[in-house]
Amino acid sequence: MRYIIVGTGVAGIAAIEAIRSVDKKGEMIMLGDDPHGFYSRPGLAYYLTGELHDKALFPKTREDYARLGFKYHKARVTRINRAEKTVLLDGRELLSYDKLLIATGAFATPLKVPGSALQGVLKLDHLDDARQILKLARRGKTAVVVGGGITALELTEGLLARGMNVHYLLRGDRYWGNVLDEHESRIVEKRLQEEGVTLHFHSELIEVIGRAGKVGGVRLLNGRTLKCDILAYAIGIKPRVELAREADLALDRGILVNEFLQTNDPDIYAAGDVAQVYDPLSGRSVLDSLWSPAREQGRAAGLNMAGQRISYIKGAPFNVTRLAGLTTTIIGAVGHGHDEDILGIARGDSETWRELPDASVAQGGFDMNHVRILVGEKTLIGAVVMGDQTLSTPLQKIISDKMDISCIHDKLLARNARVADVIVEYWSKYVASA
Ligand SMILES: Cc1cc2nc3c(=O)[nH]c(=O)nc-3n(C[C@H](O)[C@H](O)[C@H](O)COP(=O)(O)OP(=O)(O)OC[C@H]3O[C@@H](n4cnc5c(N)ncnc54)[C@H](O)[C@@H]3O)c2cc1C
Repeated sequence: MRYIIVGTGVAGIAAIEAIRSVDKKGEMIMLGDDPHGFYSRPGLAYYLTGELHDKALFPKTREDYARLGFKYHKARVTRINRAEKTVLLDGRELLSYDKLLIATGAFATPLKVPGSALQGVLKLDHLDDARQILKLARRGKTAVVVGGGITALELTEGLLARGMNVHYLLRGDRYWGNVLDEHESRIVEKRLQEEGVTLHFHSELIEVIGRAGKVGGVRLLNGRTLKCDILAYAIGIKPRVELAREADLALDRGILVNEFLQTNDPDIYAAGDVAQVYDPLSGRSVLDSLWSPAREQGRAAGLNMAGQRISYIKGAPFNVTRLAGLTTTIIGAVGHGHDEDILGIARGDSETWRELPDASVAQGGFDMNHVRILVGEKTLIGAVVMGDQTLSTPLQKIISDKMDISCIHDKLLARNARVADVIVEYWSKYVASA
């Protein structure tokens, strides 16, 4: 049996590990076009700020790879021939497969304004992008960042940490409005301002102005111009579906797969940011652009490719991140609507977060330590925990296991409820009885 895995991200690696756990002899070939292979993409944010050395981005050792016993080719797959069951590498070499996994991830939605091709217009997809940002940050003084979600903030913080003056442009009137509520957006904005970031609301970039082929400034819709040496953008991501499209696999925004991560071709699977995965609970196919779901999908895909029959059950999406230096956990469904700064889906994001829950909101705490909980009739549906993270693990379990919270429902929604205390009490009783 020959397995081919396209993509060296976390979904691809998890698939390799899963296949080897059940098929000790099968031949596995991993193909990837990133010169650095597998590394932590979320870690790039900490590499930008200088908190992580680039060596720390690589979680696997040579020995780990050797134990798994697979071949690795640094190559770009340029075509899949389903009739002959082959993939074409760099337009030259053909390799045949019995089972194929497409785990090609996603790429930053390109900026489409005049001047986008100038040197100094930067995105953050790969380690090489991060290195380029650091190189140009050393030479420049002022940066402009556009976009919403986590990555735009990571760019802002990274550039700030490298000593740049940063202007952050937001099209709307607040930060990440489809996931955070107004209070949470304001917490983040206040902290950014305290760190020295200049925020520009209702500001739309219409042109990057060039000077000798390099970024010299930006022009906004309101007529203002800002001088800068770097324009960094994070306006969303797009699943990398070209291979699947050319191979005529079923697509929507990502590659459509069933709960076994199988495409409409039974020998081809897809997992991670590129896959739009069937969620048996909601009956819909959704995009997650999160590290843990990518790993879980890769694992389930690998096991199924190796002959098992494992359903991928999408759990409540969970992300621990840092927003303006404040550790923030987002679980389940917490927001709704559309963010003007993001076209589609953002990195580190889940569409499920924006399902409008049939729920009431309970809030507690203030600025530094804030918790918002979406309370359904018998279960908690989602939560945002900012600052103190004591509640994040209990809340993740309560939400993802759909634990019955009827006994604290009214307490949580009472006026001036001490939300955190109510959850702690509920959790302590659960732990004591478990
Ligand atoms: C800056 C940043 C911050 C993030 N922060 C968070 C976070 O806080 N929390 C979180 O949960 N998630 C975060 N994410 C998202 C998370 O990293 C992704 O969800 C996850 O890496 C997806 O894994 P993947 O294996 O599907 O794809 P990827 O990691 O994108 O890997 C896909 C690989 O396929 C390769 N490839 C593509 N096309 C081809 C081809 N034709 N031939 C060969 N190789 C190809 C690519 O080069 C790439 O190496 C972040 C991502 C970034 C970039």
